[in-house]
Amino acid sequence: MSTRPVKPLTKPKQTVDLSKADNVKCDDCGNYLFITSYVIKRVSAILSPSGQEGLVPVQVYSCGNCGQVPKIFLEGSGLEE
Ligand SMILES: [Zn+2]
Repeated sequence: MSTRPVKPLTKPKQTVDLSKADNVKCDDCGNYLFITSYVIKRVSAILSPSGQEGLVPVQVYSCGNCGQVPKIFLEGSGLEE
């Protein structure tokens, strides 16, 4: 009978003082409230690991005021200009 290593139940707490953290603001209008949006990437059969064409949603955040997506949220989405 094997014995499993006992994991500690308590995770080390990360104390981050969010009052000192910067808000991400919209590049366009300066608004700092964002809503989740999805960019849908169409993956061609050639690029797809399954060999079949598919749609892959990529979550981004868009400005709740003007709809602009800040550049930092577009990194890795292939939408950078
Ligand atoms: Zn905006």
